[in-house]
Amino acid sequence: MYKAYRCNKCRVVFAIPTEDIRRMEKQGRYIACPFGHKEISEPDKYDSLKECMDNSVYVREGRRMRQIK
Ligand SMILES: [Zn+2]
Repeated sequence: MYKAYRCNKCRVVFAIPTEDIRRMEKQGRYIACPFGHKEISEPDKYDSLKECMDNSVYVREGRRMRQIK
């Protein structure tokens, strides 16, 4: 299960596995975009699907980001 986020600075859409989000929250870490911005928003499901089709999509894999589109 992934959760989609959108960066408010570079407009990139990226997805992070929900277990990673839980781990990061536990460690008190911020969720940041692949380019390190912390100004991110959580689009609703419809928006994120639409955005995913329109934009590059990154998925976090362990410590790095992989571009899947
Ligand atoms: Zn960004």
